[in-house]
Parts: sequence; C-alpha cells; structure tokens
Amino acid sequence: MDEKKTVAVVGSGVIGAAIALELQRRGLQVTMIDKGEPGRGTSYGNLASIALDFAAGSGPSTWRKIPRWLLDPEGPVWLRPAYALKVAPWFLRFIAAGRPARLRAIEDAGMSLSNQALADVRAMLGVIGAPELMSDEGCLAIYETEAEFAGDRGHIDFMRRYGLDFDVLSGGDIQAIEPALSPSIAKAVLLPDNKTIRDPYQLVVKLADAARALGATFVSGAVRNVEKTGDGSSVVLLENGERITVGSVVLAAGVHTRFLAEKLGEPIPLETERGYHTQIMRPGVSMRHSVIWPHRAFMITPTAGGIRVGGNVELAGLDAAPDFRRARVLVRHAQRAVPGLKVEEATEWMGHRPSLPDTIPIISPSSKMPGVWYATGHGHLGLTYSATTAQLVADMVTGRKPSVEMAPFRIDRY
Ligand SMILES: Cc1cc2nc3c(=O)[nH]c(=O)nc-3n(C[C@H](O)[C@H](O)[C@H](O)COP(=O)(O)OP(=O)(O)OC[C@H]3O[C@@H](n4cnc5c(N)ncnc54)[C@H](O)[C@@H]3O)c2cc1C
Repeated sequence: MDEKKTVAVVGSGVIGAAIALELQRRGLQVTMIDKGEPGRGTSYGNLASIALDFAAGSGPSTWRKIPRWLLDPEGPVWLRPAYALKVAPWFLRFIAAGRPARLRAIEDAGMSLSNQALADVRAMLGVIGAPELMSDEGCLAIYETEAEFAGDRGHIDFMRRYGLDFDVLSGGDIQAIEPALSPSIAKAVLLPDNKTIRDPYQLVVKLADAARALGATFVSGAVRNVEKTGDGSSVVLLENGERITVGSVVLAAGVHTRFLAEKLGEPIPLETERGYHTQIMRPGVSMRHSVIWPHRAFMITPTAGGIRVGGNVELAGLDAAPDFRRARVLVRHAQRAVPGLKVEEATEWMGHRPSLPDTIPIISPSSKMPGVWYATGHGHLGLTYSATTAQLVADMVTGRKPSVEMAPFRIDRY
C-alpha cells in the first residue's frame, strides 16, 4: 500500500479505537498501537452515559461550590494536599475558562459535538453490528429537595438554551418510571436522549475487533516519540526499539498524550481528573435508567451486567495509589437514593479522565509536525464524543471538510 495511505493510531481506548475503525473504513491502512489491551484504560470503567447535557461549562456557579466541596470529606472533589502546588496552574486556567465571556464560546463548542453525538454513536454501533449495546432508556437527574432542584436552575436554563429534550417529574411520577428510587426524591429531570451504553469496555473491544476485521493491525507496545523522515513520512518509535513508518499518525493516548505532545514541542495542560467506580454484580435491585445526582455529582448506572456507582473528581496526579474510600462514599450516597441497593460481588476501580482546563477536547492537527493529529482531552465526555471525534479526525486526515467548526478544538489554543 502507498505509504501516504497508512496511519498509526496511538492508543486504543474508546477514542483511538473509534478513530482506527473509521479510518480503516475510509480506505486507509491502520496500525493500532497500545501499550496494553484495547479498552483497559479510562474507557474501561466510565459511567456509560451518552451525556449530551454535560457540555455545560464550569462557570462562577461551579466555582462557588468548590470551597464547600473541598472541605467536605464526603464531597465530590478531593485534592490531595501533596498535589496542590502541582495542579495549581491547571486549576487557575480552569477558573479562567469559566469567565462568562469565555464560557459561552466553550459551551457552543461542546454543544457542536453533543448535537451530533447520539446519532454518531448510533451509527457507529450499527457499523460494528451491535445496536443492542445502547439501551433505549435515558438518564434521570434526581433532587432530594426543592432547594437542590432550585440550585440547579442554571443547568436547566442551559438545556433550554441549547434545545435539549427534558421533562421535569415530581413525587410519585418518579417512582412510576424508576421504582428503585427512594420516595424521598422530591424532583427528577428525565433526559430521554442521554442513553446508556450497556458495557463501555465491550464497546471498545468490539470497535477494535471491527477495525481488525476490516484489515487494521494491532501492535502491542508503548510509543515514546514520533519523528519525521526526509520524505514527509512519520516514524513512530516504540520503547522496545521498534520503528513504524507511516503517512500519518493520530495521538489518542488519553491522559498520556501529554507526554507525547511535550516531545513534539507542543506542551498541553492535560491533567488527570481521577474518578472511581464500584461495579456491583448482585445489587438486589434492577434499574432501567442511569441516574445522576447533580448535588452530589455522581451516577448510578445499570451497565456491564450489574449496577455501577461512580463519579468523583480527585486531583492527585497519575502516580498516587487509588484511595477507594472515595468509591465507598459514593456507594453510601447511592444507597440513600436507591434504598434497596445491596453491595454484593462488588469490585472497585479508578481511572484517569484526560482533562483540559477549558473542558473541551483537542481534535486537531499538530501545530509542529505535519501529518500528526491529536484526539485527546475528552475529560468527562470521552464515551459521549467518541464516534463524533472519529468522524472529525477521519475527515481531517482524509482532507474532507469536517461537519463542525474545528477552530475551538485546535491544539494551538494553548
Ligand atoms: C469515573 C468515570 C466516569 C466517567 N463517565 C463517563 C460517562 O458516563 N460518559 C462519558 O462520555 N465519559 C465518561 N468518562 C470519561 C471517559 O471515560 C474518558 O473521557 C474516555 O475514556 C477517554 O478515552 P481515551 O481513549 O482518550 O483514553 P483511554 O481510555 O485512557 O485510552 C488511552 C489508551 O492509550 C494507551 N496508551 C497510553 N500511553 C500510551 C503510549 N505511550 N503508547 C501506546 N499506548 C498508550 C493506554 O494504554 C490506553 O489504552 C468517565 C470517566 C471516569 C473516570
């Protein structure tokens, strides 16, 4: 095959695997490279939600909550004191991105992806022959008190502004559609289009398998750098000394992409927002909807053959050992919302959301090395944006005009 039509995709999480499949479908010869197995990174354990409304930025209303969250040992944000100085520059940029003037542009950009995300995920599931991987039910945002609901008014306004479909429910109407929920839940907002993926890990496995079935190859190894040759090709250098020469390279290594970007001379403020889950295989209740409790910032999701409880943001870097007390706090909160929830046959997990301070991803050509592309920084929304990101990257790599305005996602905004 003409070398120009070959492409290496570094990272086989949900982002890299979706891109690899789409590029292979468009006639390129794809080499997928991962230091582990496809889908065993952050994409393994997310909360399985196609969260279309999550493009809401973090403005002053979020900042106001942060001091309370940080002081509450059961709150949703944890900062390890030893990491505070390291994360400070990222945090200051996060605050700056929430300025009202910037916030609207960020939300417009995020919603340009959200607007097509559900249709793109559905189409991607069709391509891999697994439409059943997405449930028909939406997500319920729950509020224990009227005051909690009133406190989320900004989010309701956001959904109205962007035309997202939702329905406000009260009292018995809530248990009528989700009987497992406690009668103490005063209000709920049903988001019918926030569908749930029945198993996020299996999704990645199936994407990678589908790419291979079309002719993509998989190389196991850690990438340490990318170099340019005299004729314009790129050489992907692996830690084991292997060199793979290709026409184009897509860097989709989740939070680890920051190390590769640094080597290419374009550092990006990619931080890990660590999150936890508890996967309960004998929960003692069944649930149809994903449930999010905005005031406590966590989710309860029927997925992977059981019920998954998770969320949290822990700022502690890549190397600190997991602190599963975070996960247990969330299970206690979940039992308050779902009184019948039992914790039998449960496993705990921690993953690294690849997060940029302005909360929108980098989907962009390199500003330093022609023929290299980035798809990273999807933060809380990598599953949601996976299929859309794959379309956009494939458009850019193959020279087609992408369906959304790509300027907000460029790497050189940093
Ligand atoms: C608790 C939690 C809940 C979440 N819930 C949701 C949700 O409900 N909905 C949603 O949309 N998103 C959710 N997310 C976010 C979502 O999971 C991530 O945005 C997404 O998984 C990121 O995918 P990725 O492919 O970029 O990264 P990853 O899945 O981490 O994949 C990166 C891959 O790159 C490989 N790699 C790294 N470095 C190298 C290297 N040097 N060489 C070769 N390979 C390398 C890794 O082995 C890995 O396989 C959640 C995240 C967490 C933690």
